Order: sequence, then C-alpha cells, then structure tokens
Amino acid sequence: MKIHEFQAKEILKAYGVPIPRGEVARTPEEVKKSAKELGGKVVIKAQIHAGGRGKGGGVKVVENPEEAYQAAKKIINMNLVTHQTGPEGKRGRKVLVERCLKIDRELYLSIVPDRSTAKIAIIASEAGGMDIEKVASESPEKIIKIYIDPLGGIQSFHCRQLAFGLHLTPSVTKQFIPMVSKLYQLFVDCDCLLVEINPLVVTANETIYALDAKLNFDDAALFRHEDLRAYRDFDEEDPYEVEASWFNLHYIKMNGNIGNMVNGAGLAMATLDMIKQAGAEPANFLDAGGGATTEMIENGFSIILSDKNVKAILVNIFGGISRCDVLATGIIQAAKKINLKVPLVVRMEGTNVEKGRKILAESGLNVISAIDLKDASEKITQLVAGASSS
Ligand code: ADP
Ligand code: MG
Repeated sequence: MKIHEFQAKEILKAYGVPIPRGEVARTPEEVKKSAKELGGKVVIKAQIHAGGRGKGGGVKVVENPEEAYQAAKKIINMNLVTHQTGPEGKRGRKVLVERCLKIDRELYLSIVPDRSTAKIAIIASEAGGMDIEKVASESPEKIIKIYIDPLGGIQSFHCRQLAFGLHLTPSVTKQFIPMVSKLYQLFVDCDCLLVEINPLVVTANETIYALDAKLNFDDAALFRHEDLRAYRDFDEEDPYEVEASWFNLHYIKMNGNIGNMVNGAGLAMATLDMIKQAGAEPANFLDAGGGATTEMIENGFSIILSDKNVKAILVNIFGGISRCDVLATGIIQAAKKINLKVPLVVRMEGTNVEKGRKILAESGLNVISAIDLKDASEKITQLVAGASSS
C-alpha cells in the first residue's frame, strides 16, 4: 500500500525524524492561510501516489501568500504527468504547503528489503534530488549500499559508514545517526517495503530534514496495522481493483480485450504469457483464489465485463482444492444470472474434469471447452480476431 507524502511525514514526525513545518490544504483559500501562518515563502506540493512531481510541475516555490493562492489554483486538481504516473497522469485533490528551506545539499536515502541477501539494505547517495534515476544508471559509483542483518538490527557502525560515504561534517553526522536509526525502526515496526527520503537535505545552517518522504507498506502485513490502513486513499486506486478487493479477488486492469479469470497468480501469469504468444492482448488479470464459489465467479464476471474493451472471457481453472464439476456448475449459473453475452472459453483441469466438461457441454450456453492452455489461448485469440474484423 502506498500513502501520500503528508501522511508519511506525519509518521516520520511521530518517530522524531525532522521534517519542515507544513500543513495540508484542499482549496486555494486554505493554501493562502497556511502560507501566512508559515511565514510567507513556502513550497506548494501536489499530493499524488507518484514521484517526479517536481519535474512535472507539481512542486512550486512561492514568495508570498498571494502567489501561493495563484499557484494553488493551478496545482490543486491538476492532472500531473510524471515518469511514475504513466501518460494518463494523476489528479491530486490536496496539496502540502511547506516552509521553504535554504538547501545546501540534497542527499538520497532509502531502506528496502534485499531478497538476494535476505537482509535490509540502506541505499544512500550524495547526488540526491530529482535526478536520482539518472545517477543510478550513469554514475552508480555515487550510490552506496549497506546491508543489515534483521536479527542484529542497525548498529552505530552502519550509520557511521553511511555518514562517511556521504561526506557529512561532524555536526551533520550527529543529527544523521539518530535519524537513520529512527527510519530503520519505522521500516521494521510498520512492515515497510520502502522508506525513501529523496531529498534528505542539509540546510545552509547545517541542519538536516527529510524533505520528501515515500513509504510503501507490505499489504500482507496490513492486518496488524489498523492505524496504517486508515491512510488508504481510494481515490488513488483503480475503482474496479477496489471493488474486486471487497470480494477477495485480485484484479489488475490491462489494455487488451481478453478478460481472464484464473485461480492462482502463477497460473494467471502463465495464461497472460500464452495469450500474448498467441498474438492477442489480455484486458486484465483476475485471480479468483483457491476455493472459487458461484458467487465469486459471478462477481468476477461482473468486474471483468465492466471493462467495455472485453470481447471474450477465458476461464482457466485448475481444480485442486475446488472440484471441476462444482466449478462448471458455478460458471453456468453465474453466466446465466448475469446474462453473459461475450463468448466464453473454459479450460479446466483436475479433479472430476470429465464431469465438469460434460456439464459445460450440456449447458446450452455458448461455452467453448479447451483441452489445454495452448488450445485455450489459441481459441480465444481467434474469437477476438473474428470479433474485431466483423
Ligand atoms: P518529487 O520527488 O515528487 O519531485 P520532492 O518533494 O522531492 O518531489 O520535491 C522536488 C524538489 O523540490 C526537491 O528536490 C527540492 O529541491 C524542492 N523542495 C521540495 N520541498 C521543499 C521545501 N520545503 N523547501 C525547499 N525546497 C523544496
Ligand atoms: Mg522527491
């Protein structure tokens, strides 16, 4: 789960990590009021779940409350296109109004799990700020990494190693060491997948602040963080993906015209590959999970069909826990109930498969049975090719 910068900064503040003074605002009037309270010269920052806002025009420095008002009119609700939003962009409803700091250096610091070493990696660079991706690809020697054994936890030598690598002065190092320890603690406590401070700034009077903050949490651990779940912003998510999550279905929208209902993420990935190989494009990825019931199949069909690009549906289910005859009955009932109009190709394998295929064949519905995954992907590809040429 992703959250906004202003929410991440609330958490940083609770951990004692220094952040600039700031306030969230929703209207230009509120922005003006906040700018006055914060002393006039402020930065207005669009709040969207994507980085690269500075380059996309979503971060503006203004000299006084009147300029703040004018800038807010542009930034609130603007469709912000950055390298992380994709070409369609994202619309932020809120802005963060923040005191403008006199920056001397912009550093980069992030904490991520490193799967290859099974450790926690802290990544830092002297060349932080808006061009960090370029630094990583063109001058990787400017990036330092240290690995922390999660059982031992962070030690002061780790922090000193980072401080030396970043060429911090003694007075900055004194502030930096506790800051890194607190960020590490936050990473562990909140089950984060990412803590990223870019930039971590050193001001002209040698004080450090987290100027930007990105926190991603592990969805699988959210059940034990009620406080973090409250930060979820549904406006930032695809409405159909949200709807699917209410039914315990995992749905990801894509750009093609073949709807897919599959049980298990691995099988879903293989199905998408096969569709592409057969020369067509998937419209989505819908994982119906282990014990797919009639109700789940019905909800799955409805979600898939809410995408008007869908010209045919492929159901690819392995009946391990669930039996194929029960699944076939569920598919038929669901298709009848929602009056399914698009062609349906079903590939089933597993327990009671023959019984299941018989139920499908005798249903009187336009259901095409496939014998294996290759057969299924070829049949569905032919169907959509036929639909688009007619
Ligand atoms: P993004 O990473 O989405 O572009 P940032 O929050 O990192 O957004 O802001 C982009 C740049 O704007 C920063 O690298 C910094 O130079 C400047 N900036 C952001 N907040 C402030 C602030 N409070 N005071 C001064 N400059 C700021
Ligand atoms: Mg940033």
